[in-house]
Amino acid sequence: MRREEIDGVAVIQRNLPGMLAASLTFGCGARDEEIDSIGLTYLVQHLVDWTEDHIAGDFQDYVWMNDTSFIAGGPPDQVVEHFATICSAISNLPPDDLSDAVADLDADSRYVSNIDEGLRDTWGALLSRRFGPRGHGLSRWPAVDYKLFTADEIRRHIEGFFTSGNAVLTLTGEAPQAMRLPLPAGPRVNRSTSLVNHQIGPIWYADEVRGVALMVSVEPSFEAVALMWALRSRVAEAVDRAGVALGAEFMFEVVDSTRHELGLRVVPHFRRRESKSFDPTVVAELIWTELQRLISDGIDRVEIADLVPTERMPMTGDIEWMQAINDLEPLTHRELLGTAEIDFSESLTELAGLTPQVARDVVSGWLSSAMIVVPYGSKPNLPGATDDSCRTTRFVPAGEVVRPTFAKRFRNKGSLVIGIDAISTVDGDRNVHTVPLSQALVVERFGVIRLAHLGHGCVTTISDFADAADKLRAVLPPRRFRQAVTQHSAGL
Ligand SMILES: [Zn+2]
Repeated sequence: MRREEIDGVAVIQRNLPGMLAASLTFGCGARDEEIDSIGLTYLVQHLVDWTEDHIAGDFQDYVWMNDTSFIAGGPPDQVVEHFATICSAISNLPPDDLSDAVADLDADSRYVSNIDEGLRDTWGALLSRRFGPRGHGLSRWPAVDYKLFTADEIRRHIEGFFTSGNAVLTLTGEAPQAMRLPLPAGPRVNRSTSLVNHQIGPIWYADEVRGVALMVSVEPSFEAVALMWALRSRVAEAVDRAGVALGAEFMFEVVDSTRHELGLRVVPHFRRRESKSFDPTVVAELIWTELQRLISDGIDRVEIADLVPTERMPMTGDIEWMQAINDLEPLTHRELLGTAEIDFSESLTELAGLTPQVARDVVSGWLSSAMIVVPYGSKPNLPGATDDSCRTTRFVPAGEVVRPTFAKRFRNKGSLVIGIDAISTVDGDRNVHTVPLSQALVVERFGVIRLAHLGHGCVTTISDFADAADKLRAVLPPRRFRQAVTQHSAGL
């Protein structure tokens, strides 16, 4: 008998060949944290793993931007036991020995989907600018030191999000009769998406990033996804031809049922030698040129079919049971979040109505929300787009003035000013950028120290200033001083 609910958890079932696979997915992801509780969702998942031995031979756990998923495959009795174990672990968190459980966690333990280079990731930078220090905008910032989380905080996070009503069980076959999901009771979580920066685009700006990226907000549609893929292919070809970068990545961020963020990201090669020819100014100008070309000429279906991938990329490892449960993910997300990532490669027929005129209309509609981020020092010429880089002033607030260390003073004429309620950076031309203390976050990794303005979503490197880390540690709450996650670029 088909079951629609188990212990209050909605059940989705599609009969697929192969062994039974299932996912228990919670509507709770990185976006459901607060700026001072980043990492809390990952911590819950870690504690589940730490507390209980999983039963199934094949399992994986993930924390994504919008959801947390426990998946497993195997004989039905194993699957039953596996998920019962996970549910009882969740119900009994946090463990008594919390400090032992977090001892081996650090900022690198957690990976946020789409953010490959931590703080300097261009996509994370654009999200932090668009959404501010909440929701999707949190993805740029590293986790709080896990040792600072309290048992109460963990309990409240579970009560709010890891409940039967906020979960979906998805299976590739019939749910075994013995299946139980003893979770705390609670409702499905409804969110409102708030943006901090409602700029009228198109804009570009500079930030402490590695690479160049474009982001636009769209109403979810096959047309928008196909057109962004087409733009990606043309940009990839253009940067390759110009010899300034190798390819471009298609980017997709599910926000809610009315809004998806689409875009593309172009990054330097991770090997220093290959990355030398990278030219962010030229990359940004080529992105802009190709976007304008789509708006002026449109594109027809035949051209689109040539530019978009018609086959999905196989999953790494290509494990059959994971592929099966992964194929059902859009169903899970639609049930849980009211929306899902659009994989249009299976649906080219959906593009029947896409004429060049429709394409022109869709893409010109992107301009009002279009943002391009480039690294500091890059000044692309993008006709029609406004330079919306951080405003600076000439006014230096009162405070302790910190100069660069002696060795750095020759090439850095700036200073860092630590005041009662703000931290300012003054560059060599006396331009002042001020971060109110309430908006400040300091990130350190391998002696590289960076100051973020959470409201702007911007980052400034301040490693040159003598004892900057110690001085800022003294004025900031412990949760506002963080270790960065891995940045695999050669230059940090
Ligand atoms: Zn700023």
